[in-house]
Amino acid sequence: MNATRPFVVFTGTMFSGKTDLLCQTLRRLSTYSHQRVVVFKPTTDRRSSNGHIQTADGVQMPAHEIKPNRPEKILRMVYQMKADGNNPDVLGFDEIQFFFPALFAAVTAELYREGYQIYAAGLDLDFRGEPFETASLLLAHATYIHKLESYCARCGQPARLPQRLIEGSPASYTADRILIGGTEAYEARCTACHVVPDRPSVVTVSIAPHHTRKKKHKRDKKKRPF
Ligand SMILES: [Zn+2]
Repeated sequence: MNATRPFVVFTGTMFSGKTDLLCQTLRRLSTYSHQRVVVFKPTTDRRSSNGHIQTADGVQMPAHEIKPNRPEKILRMVYQMKADGNNPDVLGFDEIQFFFPALFAAVTAELYREGYQIYAAGLDLDFRGEPFETASLLLAHATYIHKLESYCARCGQPARLPQRLIEGSPASYTADRILIGGTEAYEARCTACHVVPDRPSVVTVSIAPHHTRKKKHKRDKKKRPF
């Protein structure tokens, strides 16, 4: 029986070790399995030094930097490597939440169809506790998902949410979705300790089911006197 070619996603909150696990896995594939590994990251990632991805312990791997809105450039680069006789076996991606979701998902799906092994890491939920679309799409394509947790900075319980802090206080729901930062701007928190001021309640949003609206529309038509 043939093993399924890996399309692996390491996901979870901040400080959960996603990049560490990505780096460890890629280094093992490179060192012990002699796979040719190529890594990409968005230019948005300013935590690591230029041209590298980096674990919390400072272990680095070289990475090609790609503009978040131009993930199709990854395809061109990989196909050029193949044409040059340097065809990679394994493709690694860090901080995937910054890439434009639909285009990046299409790029990785095509590369997987073309025979490459895919290993990707990134946040699944933003500081509001809402899904990042890029991770959501890649989880659907994945053959294996590692959901990682950190530990709550408040109570020490397992944590799966990024808490954004502005001068020590929880950031409003209305704040910009992307804010690059480390421990000065974020901490991991459990669901009970995660605080998002100004979050609108779901009940204030109109969510009338589609079929209800349709029936109403038909009824309105019947009432017409002509
Ligand atoms: Zn907690």
